[in-house]
Amino acid sequence: MSTSKQWVYGFGGGESAGDASMKALLGGKGANLAEMAKLGLPVPPGFTLTTEVCTEFYKNNRAYPGELSGQVDAALAALEAKTGKKFGDVANPLLVSVRSGARASMPGMMDTVLNLGLNDQTVEGLAQLSGDKRFAYDSYRRFIQMYSNVVLELEHHMFEEILGSHKDTNDYRTDTELTAEDWIQVVAEYKRAVEKKLGKPFPSDPKEQLWGAIGAVFSSWMNDRAIFYRKHNNIPESWGTAVNVQAMVFGNMGETSATGVAFTRDPSTGEKRFYGEYLINAQGEDVVAGIRTPKPLTKASREAMGEGGLSLEEAMPVVFAELTAHYQKLEAHYRDMQDLEFTVERDRLYMLQTRNGKRTAKAALKIAVDMAREGLITEKEAVQRVDPSALDQLLHPTISPKYHRDLICRGLPASPGAAVGAVVFDPDEAANLATAGKAVILVREETSPEDIHGMHAAKAIVTSRGGMTSHAAVVARGMGRPCVSGAGELRIDMKAGAFKVGGRVVKLGETITVDGSSGEVLFGAADMVQPELTGDFATLMEWADKARRMKVRANAETPEDAATAVKFGAEGIGLCRTEHMFFDAERIAAVREMILAETEKGRVAALDKLFPHQRQDFVDLFEIMGPRPVTIRFLDPPLHEFLPHTEEDCEAVAKATGVDAKALLARARELHEVNPMLGFRGCRLAIVYPEIYDMQARAVFEAACDVAEAKGAAPVPEIMIPFVLAKRELDFLKGRVDAIAAEVFAKRGRKIEYLVGTMIELPRAALLAGEIAQTAEFFSFGTNDLTQTTMGLSRDDSGKFLGTFVERGVLPQDPFVSIDAQGVGELVGLACERGRAARQGLKLGVCGEHGGDPSSVAFFERAGLDYVSCSPYRVPIARLAAAQAALAKG
Ligand code: PEP
Ligand code: MG
Repeated sequence: MSTSKQWVYGFGGGESAGDASMKALLGGKGANLAEMAKLGLPVPPGFTLTTEVCTEFYKNNRAYPGELSGQVDAALAALEAKTGKKFGDVANPLLVSVRSGARASMPGMMDTVLNLGLNDQTVEGLAQLSGDKRFAYDSYRRFIQMYSNVVLELEHHMFEEILGSHKDTNDYRTDTELTAEDWIQVVAEYKRAVEKKLGKPFPSDPKEQLWGAIGAVFSSWMNDRAIFYRKHNNIPESWGTAVNVQAMVFGNMGETSATGVAFTRDPSTGEKRFYGEYLINAQGEDVVAGIRTPKPLTKASREAMGEGGLSLEEAMPVVFAELTAHYQKLEAHYRDMQDLEFTVERDRLYMLQTRNGKRTAKAALKIAVDMAREGLITEKEAVQRVDPSALDQLLHPTISPKYHRDLICRGLPASPGAAVGAVVFDPDEAANLATAGKAVILVREETSPEDIHGMHAAKAIVTSRGGMTSHAAVVARGMGRPCVSGAGELRIDMKAGAFKVGGRVVKLGETITVDGSSGEVLFGAADMVQPELTGDFATLMEWADKARRMKVRANAETPEDAATAVKFGAEGIGLCRTEHMFFDAERIAAVREMILAETEKGRVAALDKLFPHQRQDFVDLFEIMGPRPVTIRFLDPPLHEFLPHTEEDCEAVAKATGVDAKALLARARELHEVNPMLGFRGCRLAIVYPEIYDMQARAVFEAACDVAEAKGAAPVPEIMIPFVLAKRELDFLKGRVDAIAAEVFAKRGRKIEYLVGTMIELPRAALLAGEIAQTAEFFSFGTNDLTQTTMGLSRDDSGKFLGTFVERGVLPQDPFVSIDAQGVGELVGLACERGRAARQGLKLGVCGEHGGDPSSVAFFERAGLDYVSCSPYRVPIARLAAAQAALAKG
């Protein structure tokens, strides 16, 4: 540690030590406050304790760096000079807010204290200065409540009970009825309660208060909700949080004061319109807490929502004009949609925060495309602005317009998309039911950060309170869950295990549909429709396609999947798992007959029955895919997968098909393996029973000739041999495939171009890629099996403990989701190199699940693969991820 390290950075009052580029050090909030102050916007002055203080704090067993206290004193003195107020001064007290601010925004995850610096003396100073005693004591009691909760770890309800009984005694219904004298009494009661609980008085020394709050914010980095949020958003613990100490401005100094949040564009739809909410005479947290329902900022949106009252534009036109100028300046400066917080203190506007706004996938797409068209960003930047995983939200179904909606109630359209599920009220129960595979909808009065696991587990969220920027709304949008917030008529009756709307009762466990795009909650399970992939989506995809190098194919075996894949822009099929075609009711009997046959003749007879079906399968795929390549993977799983296992099942099958139950059971037992994933499967089956692949090869070539004849254009089959470990396996099997091709082409009098390649699913195959490539005409990395065999982790069972591995930091992520670049990736790279050295221009692809995972796609780009193949619904995600990966490489 150097002795002159800067731990504290001041901002405001016409100068800033930091700027927006210093997010890692100052946190997002601190860096942007510094930047806004630099831009000349009205930011209340303050200072930031860096994220390095946080890291030091945890490294040194929760002790601060030695120089910190002196630097805080100096920053405080500078702040006093800028504001002309003094911390702890009775006549002119400086009050501050203390807030967390990590590098990535973590809404509501960590703690905040407002009005810090108040005590029995300074509150009188505040009353004098503001000329409003009631306001001063209201601020004081808020401070005691917040500080007690955040710093002293006392529960809210203790204070709520005191306030509640004070209201009851005086027959008050709302907080606004309390007078200054009432608040003075409440403050006294609060302080007595704290002292009773803790055995020592509430701290009155502002310095002590300040250090308490700073400590609490740094400690909140390690609270459960912050840890959970980080885990789900891949935020490293090592980043730490900064602490921002800032001069207070008050949005609750009467009718000429207000506080609000705004987005420079609509965060839900992406529309280019100023959008947000505000409350007159309220303090910042009131808006996001969802306790009072705020009003829209603009007249247009107030009218569109059919609301009474006044928008900010109507209530405070001068302030609104100023705010408009600021938001335009900020959006142009940051070249991205901004999420702003502001406060108006007696007609004076202050900017409290700006950051790149969180948005739905739909909005992200529209904003990126619009901004590129406006010339604010380039097309390539637009491509980089949209998170590929978020596209998932757009590819989800919405409610069919033909569906008759049984409307239960209406709220705000807080997060778009639609979902069906069973009503639950409790986040823990939501999480449990979701783990058990049930679709649930979480219905709450309002949500808080403690509910986040339940929100994650739910298909959608409904709240009866709160606005578009309430916790529920913000979090749901971030997670891509549909959400209806502020459904005011909905009353939850926990005792009855139901919610009520007017006379209507919906019980726990009953199925409802949530339409987060319209704000409606419907009874029953609605019919869904697939989304349109036109407009902005198509435009962005077009730009992405221009930017990417790798091709994107789909894993598909049914005509429906193939058609979906083409619709989503797949440039071929990268994996057709032919075994899926064998499970069909019409065919499984013949498959079993083949398995039971004791002679080659018997097997061939059974395979002959399968042949016409298999040929038709390939005709269908070739017709749909046209000139696009279709990779057909020959039979892969161990044969026992096709047989019934228990005695009962064997008897049932025997009865239905006329085969002998005993023989069936005996064969099933004979085929039983202790370790089937490393057993008699893949090309090993065809080394022992070559007639199986012979039938499949014949079906491919006959189908290809059929389609070529019918359409006048030849399909492009690529035959793929699975689970290869040696060149000789491939030599043997490719020899037979080529012979059958020659035979069929001679008979049909035409020749079709085709390739025979292999999957690389075993470390040995990767290591011997040079040799294997002498025979194989392409490689497709089967990274599911390659991960399993390289890491020695069962792809079917390891889910039970991989979560803990990731939690404990033993593995950075689940290697079946994102490729283990270090180990498995090393083998991929090596196989590419050796394969290409042996065969120039060897075609390389991947067809494991990783083909649709953005971070894995980035790895495959670096490894130089020709294509990735993934499930049809992930094709757009892979297209965008491939484009971003190519752009990142430059
Ligand atoms: C693989 O192993 O990655 C693969 C694509 O094959 P399957 O998932 O069918 O085993
Ligand atoms: Mg495999």
